[in-house]
Amino acid sequence: MKPTGHLLQTPEDWKASGEFFHSLECQHTELALTRRTVANGTVAIVSQCQCCGRQKGSALRKLPEHDSLPAFNETLEREWSKQREQHVTQFKKKRQRENTLKWFSDYNRYLQSPLWKEKRDLVLQPEDFVCQGCRKARATSAHHTTYRHQGHEFLFELIALCQSCHDRYHASFVDALLPSEEPYFDGQSSGNFE
Ligand SMILES: [Zn+2]
Ligand SMILES: [Zn+2]
Ligand SMILES: [Zn+2]
Repeated sequence: MKPTGHLLQTPEDWKASGEFFHSLECQHTELALTRRTVANGTVAIVSQCQCCGRQKGSALRKLPEHDSLPAFNETLEREWSKQREQHVTQFKKKRQRENTLKWFSDYNRYLQSPLWKEKRDLVLQPEDFVCQGCRKARATSAHHTTYRHQGHEFLFELIALCQSCHDRYHASFVDALLPSEEPYFDGQSSGNFE
């Protein structure tokens, strides 16, 4: 599985995000009735959590005795929304990072397998081990032009490269490898590339 910018791609992701979003739900018990002015200017009577500021449940029917209730604390709720957004961003980054690490670990294991070694030979031999990047140096690795079929690559997706060309390619390659909306790759967990 290749890491992407998307949060939900595996059953583990679904489970983790389910638990995460559940943990964001208001669990507080300190509630108070407040008067909340809604979109069209009318006042609704709503229950507001006094800890995180969120409205609990839907509006109640307004009765005359509700006139003395305190106003809904919009600032408290806005603060919480901001915090929530930050939590969500952090959670996404953490999941993406975990997925990236897993991807590299699976990938590096694959590069050690007899299946990969056989595939690499099938790429290098027909080129007489000549690098297809410079056509001078000896090719030592089969470079992936795409990771779409990682583990069951078409041979035309692999190119024989010398060490120097391969290193040069991958030096500017990290972003292209991980097509994500947010760059989260720290460049330290890469292990080996092919
Ligand atoms: Zn709350
Ligand atoms: Zn080369
Ligand atoms: Zn490569």
